[in-house]
Amino acid sequence: MNLQNLNTDGYTDKVVASQEAENVWNQFTELIKLNISDLKYNTWFRPIKPVSLNGSTLHISVPSKDYYEMIIARFGEMVIKAVKSVLGENGKLSYEIISDMVDNNPETNETYNDDTEPSHYSSNDNCGTRYVLNQEYTFDNFVKGKNNEFAYAAAISISNRPGAQYNPLLIYGGVGLGKTHLMQAIGNYIKNCSQKSSIMYISGPEFTTSFVQSIRYNRVHEFEKFYKSLDVLILDDVQFFEGKVSTQDSFFQIFNSLYQLKKQIVLSCDKPPHELVGLEERLITRFQWGLSVDIQPPDLETRIAILYKKCETEGITLPYEVAEYIAINIKDNIRSLEGCLKSLIFDSEMTKEPINLDMAKRSVLKFGGIRNKRANIDISTIISVVANFFNLDESLLRLKSKQQEIVHARHTAMYLCKELTGSSLQTIGAHFGGRNHATVIHACKCIEEAISSNSTFKNKIEEIKEILLTK
Ligand code: ADP
Ligand code: MG
Repeated sequence: MNLQNLNTDGYTDKVVASQEAENVWNQFTELIKLNISDLKYNTWFRPIKPVSLNGSTLHISVPSKDYYEMIIARFGEMVIKAVKSVLGENGKLSYEIISDMVDNNPETNETYNDDTEPSHYSSNDNCGTRYVLNQEYTFDNFVKGKNNEFAYAAAISISNRPGAQYNPLLIYGGVGLGKTHLMQAIGNYIKNCSQKSSIMYISGPEFTTSFVQSIRYNRVHEFEKFYKSLDVLILDDVQFFEGKVSTQDSFFQIFNSLYQLKKQIVLSCDKPPHELVGLEERLITRFQWGLSVDIQPPDLETRIAILYKKCETEGITLPYEVAEYIAINIKDNIRSLEGCLKSLIFDSEMTKEPINLDMAKRSVLKFGGIRNKRANIDISTIISVVANFFNLDESLLRLKSKQQEIVHARHTAMYLCKELTGSSLQTIGAHFGGRNHATVIHACKCIEEAISSNSTFKNKIEEIKEILLTK
């Protein structure tokens, strides 16, 4: 791979997307754009990045496996045709799946595994897509909710007066809750307000890799000098420094220098700083010198607002019941919420039907909303919901009554326990008056037969599931 170029300082910059790859990609996307709507293009092709060109194979990175599968399923033929017309009969695309284009690379060791000579440090923005700010992450499209109000306020505040207060700003919280978005928004805001600022966004793994490479090429001094010259350093996912002693040492020097010069440092972490294990105490202390703010999972209203915000950007109308359904079922991760919405938009484009609840149910299933929910349903809840549904007393389901109506309800409850909980057949049996696993198997068989032969009953089962899954 030839991923290098020289800048005027004589240091080598890693250019993540080679120029050739970029050119081929542009020709390719021109062809794709002729064949599909802007919306589809923006949803499915815009997030893809060209990486390199190797003979007649163009290497690209896609944000997730779902993308890859959907693109192949829906546009496979068109994609192949377009590639061949740009690169000739042998033209091929090779996909890398990068789960988060901005902060991927979950390297946990101080090692590197490619042979390019890659130190990306340079004082311009010429250093490859991964290291520059992603302009799509702004304050305007960040929804403020109870879960992130302090983080949001702190981010706005330091953006207006970088380096003057709250230094460093540390944002912590779980995966997919908006840390990267907020940090990038800070960078974009400062960049737009003062063109001269040199701002660097980099993730913990990337910093580590880059540092290790600077050792390899004997350029630690230049590496640190570059970081010490920044006006704003945004370092995402510092938990990746855990256990990496020399990376921590180097960062310690950089931190001290920037701090003394009153240059803004923004950090993020997936847990509160005091829970970082394998990070030197002197760093943890410094991380807490400024302000630490957390981001929590969003509540229902915020999740709905985020869905609407994304729709506004895409120019999509989302019926309220659909937004609510998605937001009820996908709770813990905004990335999944977004993925679900994208798949929904895609479905609607493909079927040329307006977005509706049935489509939403399919998308939610695909994005694991129901699966996540399954873990929370317990046997007692199922017994109570089923008893209620059939207008029976709960205790009757647990007793050994042979009355037809009760047996039927009991079988239904056992079947749902098997479908929706991770409990063993034995445990399920135990909840129904100490029955054994063979009885549960028999119950499940009866219900499966009834479902396949009787569509009214099948609908009833769906109805009960719905009650349970949206409870
Ligand atoms: P993290 O870095 O915490 O893992 P990200 O910042 O990558 O999470 O967020 C995941 C996705 O969710 C991104 O596409 C981001 O735009 C979106 N997102 C997160 N929080 C919000 C929010 N409050 N408003 C709008 N979008 C959000
Ligand atoms: Mg992140």
